[in-house]
Amino acid sequence: MKCNTWESRKDAILSGYGKTLYFMIGFFGIIYYNIGNLRLHAVCYYAHLEGNMSILKVARLGNPVLRQTAATLTAEEINSLYVQKLIDDMVETMREYEGVGLAAPQVHESKQIVVIESAGSIRYSEAPNIPLTILINPVISYYSEEKADGWEGCLSVGDFRGVVPRSTSVKVDTLNRKGKKVSIDASGFFAIALQHEIDHLNGIVFLDRMKDLKNLSFLKEYERYWAKE
Ligand SMILES: [Zn+2]
Repeated sequence: MKCNTWESRKDAILSGYGKTLYFMIGFFGIIYYNIGNLRLHAVCYYAHLEGNMSILKVARLGNPVLRQTAATLTAEEINSLYVQKLIDDMVETMREYEGVGLAAPQVHESKQIVVIESAGSIRYSEAPNIPLTILINPVISYYSEEKADGWEGCLSVGDFRGVVPRSTSVKVDTLNRKGKKVSIDASGFFAIALQHEIDHLNGIVFLDRMKDLKNLSFLKEYERYWAKE
């Protein structure tokens, strides 16, 4: 076999052992690449499962993000690692600051995501237990005509408490964190929490809903003068 031209050298390399070696390098290269890829996915998934959660910075009143209408999420966005981690971080942030609910605009993400949970909160010691509830693209499809006044506060409004009239029961049509359609019938404290948090997705804070700003109180004064009413 002549090896003095490029064509003949290539034929020599690709014939016999050369061809097998060439094939094997390619084959094992692909396997190695995929193992690396799988390992990367496994690491991401492990990090997702095992916490690695972050406490997010809470947007305060005056930040324009609290006044925007939040964007709805597509099925693809809901399933993304980014949104799933954001949900975990929102839960972690809500627990860290003793809230009973948090909407994504409150952590600078103008997205239609809400987390609600109440289990022995110090900020809302009188609140009944609500299991962790995740809402995506929620819509209130029913409001009871009956309304009741109740004291509300908000992580974005500092240490204030104010009286807000709310429907005593609501129905919410929403997606859960897996993107599955769910309907929630709620009354009492849970209904108030749902109305408060879904307001955030529409750029509304509880101060906008107050009929009279005269009872707006700091937390200490609320506890001293109003809480035992
Ligand atoms: Zn709030």
